Amino acid sequence: MPEWPDLHVVRGRLEKALVGREIVLVRIGEPLVLRSTHPVDTALAGRRFRAVRHRGKFLIFELDRGAIVVNPMLAGVFELTDAEAKLSRTTALSLVLDDGTDLRYRDDKRMGKVHVLDDAKDVGAVHGIAELGPEAGELPWNEREFAARARATRRELRNLLMDQSFLAGIGNAYADEVLWEARLHPKRRVATLDDEELSRFYRAVIEVVARGVREVEQGLPPELGTKIRDHMKVRGRKGKPCPRCGTAIVKTRHGLDDMYVCPHCQPPPRGQIR
Ligand SMILES: [Zn+2]
Repeated sequence: MPEWPDLHVVRGRLEKALVGREIVLVRIGEPLVLRSTHPVDTALAGRRFRAVRHRGKFLIFELDRGAIVVNPMLAGVFELTDAEAKLSRTTALSLVLDDGTDLRYRDDKRMGKVHVLDDAKDVGAVHGIAELGPEAGELPWNEREFAARARATRRELRNLLMDQSFLAGIGNAYADEVLWEARLHPKRRVATLDDEELSRFYRAVIEVVARGVREVEQGLPPELGTKIRDHMKVRGRKGKPCPRCGTAIVKTRHGLDDMYVCPHCQPPPRGQIR
């Protein structure tokens, strides 16, 4: 699943390629993911891109009239190619622009949603957007405010980080990375953290997301679909040595998700196994 750094970098790439361009041809491959009150081709043909924004895990394309809002969910990816390139079976939407560029959205799992809106003012009404908290990569809180908000929830750290109404854009991979950076076990409850630990937690969110943006910026190929995870310290590194202490990284379950921890750096809460 793309997370904040992934979408942040993709947004920049898309903005460079799209702003000012007109949609001259609309091709629809997989109507299941499309949400529109009018036929999508008549709604989009002749429109021009004005801006590309992102909000949490959503990408928002502002047009000269209306907007397209995409929630890529697990497997949705964008591609910039030229209109002549072969369309893949899972291409849901292809927008050919006046310079021959083709913006494609492909979704192998067909779980994503592409909302085509008549009016950009309706972006806030797209399911899931209104309840989003602040952007994970643009925290508006200082350490004290962050601590107060986190403590008010009394939640387990990993659940809190992944709650999109607390912070928008953190998923499984960055949650693992933030908690490893902060040396905190995912199942610790916020209420059990002392001031020093909460401070580490706050700084880890900022540092890990910022580092993610830098790494994705460097590593992202023109296809935009690849998730850049090579820089991660624990995610996907089961059995490999912890970069801090050398202990083997453990992969375990957290609800329906996989999670990765260093059992030495991130000791489980007392009186609780794992
Ligand atoms: Zn360690």
